[in-house]
Amino acid sequence: MKMRVYLDNNSTTPIDPRVKEAIAPYLTDIFGNPSNLHSFGRECAEGIEKAREQVAAFLNAKPAEIFFTSGGTEANNWAIKGVAAALMLKKGRHIITSPIEHASVLGSANYLAEMGWQISYLPVDAYGIVDPEAVRKAITPQTVLVSVMLANNEIGTIEPVREIVRICHEHEVLVHTDAVSAAGKIEIDVQNLGVDLMTISGHKIHAPKGIGVLFIRSGTPIVPLIHGGHHQRGLRAGTENVIGIIGIGKACEILKEEWQQNVARIRQLRDRLEKGILARISDVRLNGHPEKRLPNTSHFSVAYVEGEALLMNLDLEGIAVASGSACSSGEPEPSPTVKAIGVPEIYRNSVVRFSLGEENTEAEIDYAVEVMERVVKRLREISPLKPGG
Ligand SMILES: *Cc1c(COP(=O)(O)O)cnc(C)c1O
Repeated sequence: MKMRVYLDNNSTTPIDPRVKEAIAPYLTDIFGNPSNLHSFGRECAEGIEKAREQVAAFLNAKPAEIFFTSGGTEANNWAIKGVAAALMLKKGRHIITSPIEHASVLGSANYLAEMGWQISYLPVDAYGIVDPEAVRKAITPQTVLVSVMLANNEIGTIEPVREIVRICHEHEVLVHTDAVSAAGKIEIDVQNLGVDLMTISGHKIHAPKGIGVLFIRSGTPIVPLIHGGHHQRGLRAGTENVIGIIGIGKACEILKEEWQQNVARIRQLRDRLEKGILARISDVRLNGHPEKRLPNTSHFSVAYVEGEALLMNLDLEGIAVASGSACSSGEPEPSPTVKAIGVPEIYRNSVVRFSLGEENTEAEIDYAVEVMERVVKRLREISPLKPGG
């Protein structure tokens, strides 16, 4: 029997029914503009403030340090461009990041480079891990910010952000971390990590799309990215996305209670998937760090098949996964992450990422393994890439 199995939770997640329920009144009865002082506005503003508290509690931050944005992309843009603009005259024009960041971080760094900034890209090892000592070496008196993600969304590698923060703070350099794929999978306590800025996104944690959060530690120099009215302490203008905010608040409240037990289950399923694939398919490589890796993410390279073809053939059998290449002009290009970790040639264009979620079952995992074996076998039979083929 054909099943429909969603194994692409690092791309997006379904909305939790409890999140849907929390949002519902804001789609109908509670419609005021939260900036207005009448009761219609106030009841909406109260919902927003409750959500701010829910997010703050999950991150172990103060509510005043939580800012709602249009998503992880905006939060990352704001952290980088906002701190850069606040400090360029006082300190300099140098930013440090890694080559395996999300496009929103790499794009922001690239923009600053075009504006004359100096950008240092930290080396990563074969697992994608940044060496904190490389951060120490890259810091100059002009460095205003270091941005290194907490966990990579493709290969799942977890970065030593706490150690990076310790070194940066010795040199009075601020640290931002993109915790979008880490949220709900590993601890993201801003006090433990010590970060000055942190990004999360709603739709990766069972809240709606188009909502994100930037945690900004009190006292961090930053200017607005979006100018306008006095919303959100004058730092992020625009009438709030109330639906999204209520949703991400509820999602954070749920995760605070449940993430650890979710992860224990997901990790077992993930291990079952990896064992199955590695046992039943030859010439497969598991990318990312063996242990310092998100408990829901498996990033494989399957030699002698092409990633996009694998993705599409799995999709025909009802299985949704991601391939690691952006297909530009018909030629598949390995992602910056895959390039940076130095995946050997035969494994470079054949990547496939499985990212599990709370809803997955053992039966789904077993079906995915069975289909993978069948599809890879079929693709290899017709592959021009196979040895001697
Ligand atoms: C999805 C993602 C983002 C972008 O978040 P959006 O809310 O989709 O804009 C940023 N960083 C990482 C690591 C992501 O996986």
